[in-house]
Amino acid sequence: MRLILMGPPGSGKGTQAKRICERFRVPHLSTGDILRAEVKAMTPLGSAVAATMEAGGLVSDGTVSAIVASRIAGTDARNGFVLDGFPRTVSQALALDHALGEGGLTAVIELKASEEALYDRICRRAVESARAGEPQRADDNADTLKRRLRAYRAETLPVTAFYKQRSPFFQVDGLLAPGEVTDQILQLLRGCDGVGTVKKY
Ligand code: AMP
Repeated sequence: MRLILMGPPGSGKGTQAKRICERFRVPHLSTGDILRAEVKAMTPLGSAVAATMEAGGLVSDGTVSAIVASRIAGTDARNGFVLDGFPRTVSQALALDHALGEGGLTAVIELKASEEALYDRICRRAVESARAGEPQRADDNADTLKRRLRAYRAETLPVTAFYKQRSPFFQVDGLLAPGEVTDQILQLLRGCDGVGTVKKY
């Protein structure tokens, strides 16, 4: 199964991607997580992207596309993957097409949510992780969220238009309860070609 989960920051992509990956036993490829790990490990790549990420901007297409191309070619991704946070630009979508070759995508699912609700969620996520003593994301604050949403509107919404014309494309209300969102995604995937067997709990 080769799935792309799209949606603005705070729409629940990470939570849903984890659940879907567990069900289908495929890797969760989150470019945000991969880049945050590079920043944390203070690698040359991490140092190069840290300021952009903290400011809520987009890392260069070439950098993220190369990361994804190498991850989807890995042996752990031979039965598929769930991409979370990639592609975020049409140029990245074209690079992914090239990297995927003939097989194409099983589906693209967009989680929809109003910007007002996203502000609430992100601010709550910041407060809850601070309360739990967890490390806070440097970009989980109202100012940066504004920039991330602007980037989403300008760069990533055109990607949804791109996929609507080429791949099985679905939209799910990201503001529903997380379990409900998962159920709807699984239901949609049942109707798609190339979906492996769903693991029973
Ligand atoms: P995320 O965890 O997906 O919200 O990503 C956090 C940050 O990582 C984004 O605000 C960007 O700075 C960077 N990033 C993650 N994925 C991409 C991507 N596909 N293209 C460009 N920048 C990205």
